[in-house]
Amino acid sequence: FKKIPSHRKNKDELSQLTDTFNRMMERLEGSFLRQRQFVSDASHELNTTLTIIEGYAGMLKRWGTTNEEVQRESIENIYEESKRMKKMTRQLLDLASSQNDPKLEIESFSILECCKQAASLANKLHKRDIAVRAKGALDPIIQADPQKIKQLLLILLDNALKYSDKQIEMTVSTQGEDTEIRVKDYGIGIPKEHIGYVFDRFYRVDQARQRQTGGAGLGLPIAKSIVQEHGGTIAVRSEEGAGTEFTVRLPNTQTREPVKPAE
Ligand code: ADP
Repeated sequence: FKKIPSHRKNKDELSQLTDTFNRMMERLEGSFLRQRQFVSDASHELNTTLTIIEGYAGMLKRWGTTNEEVQRESIENIYEESKRMKKMTRQLLDLASSQNDPKLEIESFSILECCKQAASLANKLHKRDIAVRAKGALDPIIQADPQKIKQLLLILLDNALKYSDKQIEMTVSTQGEDTEIRVKDYGIGIPKEHIGYVFDRFYRVDQARQRQTGGAGLGLPIAKSIVQEHGGTIAVRSEEGAGTEFTVRLPNTQTREPVKPAE
């Protein structure tokens, strides 16, 4: 895009219009570039996975019937890489749909109960024991999309489980009309120089390590887009070797007395 030069020193109507136009064009240009980068990163990721699958399928075709070790290794890798690709395409679809048509099915629900359900699911899947705590005696009731909030919590828990084999804590509290959810682990942490990028699409601190843990660097971008769709914020604090804490703040919370179990 060619910028319209703004010669005039005084900000009269025309030069203000020129500035607005230039700013709009810069934003548009930026979003085109980001979109192009996204398509190129996604194609690269899918291509790498397909190349690995193709390689193992080739080995299987040549030596699969005569060499049992090749057969076992190829099948195992084809299976793992296909799972990875399936997860990645599902995540790409999630990101695309939240961008094109962010539909929220808003309901009122207990955020503490939602955190407990997400933790219990993660515990079952990973055979772990995540502790969920509420700060304060009242039960925060939030207006949000329960499916999306659960997806967001599972992404944070899944990461905490992947990058830490120690204790994981989840804390729910209210700050005025906001709900605050913290997911804290005592695992490997994120090096300082990487922390500013972890919400970027396809960003992974350690490419080699991540291929083993199965991530494509799309979990946190999805988490961020869910939080933003709800008008909230997400932040991270981490220390390498000591652990990581994600803090999510969501608006539209009221509190109520917790329901006491029947005597
Ligand atoms: P992935 O699926 O690769 O985990 P994410 O977008 O969820 O992708 O996370 C991006 C990167 O941020 C991860 O690859 C990892 O390097 C880092 N990361 C995220 N959560 C944690 C955590 N709890 N502890 C350490 N590193 C983390």
